[in-house]
Amino acid sequence: MIYIFVGPPGSGKGTQAKRLCEQLSLAHLSTGDLLRGAIAQGTELGLKAKAFMDQGALVPDDLVFGLLKEKMNQSQAKGFLLDGFPRNLPQAKTLSELISTESWQLGKVVNFSIPSEVLVKRLVGRRSCPGCGSVFHVETQMPRVAGVCDQCGTALVHRSDDQESVIRRRIDTFLRETAPILEFYRVSGSLVEVAADQSPVQVSEALLKVLRS
Ligand code: AMP
Repeated sequence: MIYIFVGPPGSGKGTQAKRLCEQLSLAHLSTGDLLRGAIAQGTELGLKAKAFMDQGALVPDDLVFGLLKEKMNQSQAKGFLLDGFPRNLPQAKTLSELISTESWQLGKVVNFSIPSEVLVKRLVGRRSCPGCGSVFHVETQMPRVAGVCDQCGTALVHRSDDQESVIRRRIDTFLRETAPILEFYRVSGSLVEVAADQSPVQVSEALLKVLRS
């Protein structure tokens, strides 16, 4: 079973994906995290991807899909939650082909809807853990010790693409390239909506409700 989370940067997909995967025993695959992992390892793919990410643009489809497929093949999980993939129509179509070749089943596709100005505020103050992927906020969700991850003790970072000018470009990229996939999944009857402009607990509750519906 494949579940998909779609939403603009900062809509809380990653936070919700982590919680849900623990509850439903799914493997969480975030293409953003996979790409940042490749950058941290200094691989050739990571080097290529970084130039696109720092501009707030999408990384070329073949690079992202190769990385995702490798992780899926290595995993023993019975289900995957895809966080940040697909991000344009060609990726959505490639994924549909993979799902039918592998005889997987597509579960719900969740759209995290939220106004753009809320996203800018969230992302400018966001601090991320490069170790375990946990996220904090300098005003609304401070870690117990400043600059240090509560979960794994790694030093938190302000992602280079969480600067305001890049954030605005990432939101534009989402509206231009990613939003069209919503129609693709609406037509196939897989799309459900969650209002992401609420507290994480409220979003979790709304999410469980739409997934059970
Ligand atoms: P995220 O952590 O999901 O916000 O992703 C961070 C950045 O990684 C994005 O702004 C893109 O540059 C890149 N990225 C992540 N997922 C994809 C994807 N499916 N296709 C292309 N680029 C991606």
